[in-house]
Amino acid sequence: VKRIGVLTSGGDAPGMNAALRAVVRACKYYDLQSVGIRQGYEGLINSDMIELGPRSVKNIINQGGTVLKTARSAEFRTPEGRLKAYKHLKDNNIDALVVIGGDGSFTGANIFHKEFGVPFIGIPGTIDNDIFGTDFTIGYDTALNTVIEAVDKLRDTATSHDRVFFVEVMGRDAGFIALNTGIASGAQDILIPEQRDSVQELCESLERSEKSGKKSSIVIVAEGEKLGGVYELAKQVQQKHPEYDIRVTVLGHIQRGGSPTCHDRVLASRLGIAAVEGLIEGKTNLMAGIRSNKVVFTPIDEAIKKHNEIDTELIKVANILAI
Ligand code: ATP
Repeated sequence: VKRIGVLTSGGDAPGMNAALRAVVRACKYYDLQSVGIRQGYEGLINSDMIELGPRSVKNIINQGGTVLKTARSAEFRTPEGRLKAYKHLKDNNIDALVVIGGDGSFTGANIFHKEFGVPFIGIPGTIDNDIFGTDFTIGYDTALNTVIEAVDKLRDTATSHDRVFFVEVMGRDAGFIALNTGIASGAQDILIPEQRDSVQELCESLERSEKSGKKSSIVIVAEGEKLGGVYELAKQVQQKHPEYDIRVTVLGHIQRGGSPTCHDRVLASRLGIAAVEGLIEGKTNLMAGIRSNKVVFTPIDEAIKKHNEIDTELIKVANILAI
């Protein structure tokens, strides 16, 4: 490879910029050229690209979001769209791609590779931590810290008013954000899609805490939880317990923003370099990830299809501490 194209695709995540910076600087280090592709796969289709060098990625390691911008490209899902993308890739002499995104972005790159043989390596960038082949995705740690900062503030007001706060957090179909922030913010109960919860059990937990002298509680609800959503849950608990002063907060997109934590910056820096080194070694259709603090490559099919299991020890920790 001589010239690597890099793009960020799908949902944005804090630390994507740090990954981009690492890719560009690793390219320079190994005497390769790097090209930034704007708006994910849209930039390939529209030939919206920019030459990058070590200085063009200055002052971005600390910025959330992605300076390359990201998009969900409907056109890239069509063979015609991908043909256009391939033509522009060739016109720009790009030999290989680094795709920073989630499983949808990897699926797109995989199909593109099957059709045109373009080598690529994926870097997991999503706050949800729902990608197999890495212990942590880029942006996850920052999102966790954003959530606990917000829940700490809600705790202040919950305590002052003796209220029960239901807080919905992101995570798509995965409960990693909910479980970890629930433990870290001292939640009375945590509802995640991986566990079969019930309104009955939730009520019992709240009743137990009330009996033990607790006057206010935090309940963390994963957005992917299967009991009808945070408002429905709050409504059902309120019906059983009209005496509770219940409030609902949906944290929403603030969880996707902000300056990346040290953990995410280091992770992104390592994976950005690993992706470039992998392409130099002739690797393709792999995702660079971190497992037990070592950089590892996982076949992209596995990264897309398999799922990280929720740690049952963490569920136990949450249950013991909610006594
Ligand atoms: P996140 O998990 O944060 O949403 P993601 O990478 O999974 O990130 P998606 O919107 O699912 O986000 O995918 C990003 C882009 O990848 C899509 O907009 C589309 O352009 C491309 N893509 C996804 N699936 C396919 C597919 N089956 N064929 C071709 N391209 C695809």
